[in-house]
Amino acid sequence: MSDRIRCTCRRCTIRGLMGPAVIITVGVLFLFDQMRGGYFSFGNTYPVILIVIGAISLAAAAAPADGHVSGPTPPTAPGTSGSAPVPQNQMPGQGQGQ
Ligand SMILES: [Zn+2]
Repeated sequence: MSDRIRCTCRRCTIRGLMGPAVIITVGVLFLFDQMRGGYFSFGNTYPVILIVIGAISLAAAAAPADGHVSGPTPPTAPGTSGSAPVPQNQMPGQGQGQ
């Protein structure tokens, strides 16, 4: 989608790894559950998911946000730097008045 924020700063990059990392972690834990079971059952290993989420969140918070882009367009008004996207239709041009 074109409205998705594509920021290439390290903080957003690490945050983008959150989803895949959690999916991989859950897959590995279920794999251990299927292979070994018992001590490695999912009921015993599920806190690893929380650890992974916390570790990635911590890494994202500690990562520098240099060059961070908070929206599809760079914010021009310093007062409206909120997260709410305000659709501003650009005028086609004042010289083109009918
Ligand atoms: Zn960013």
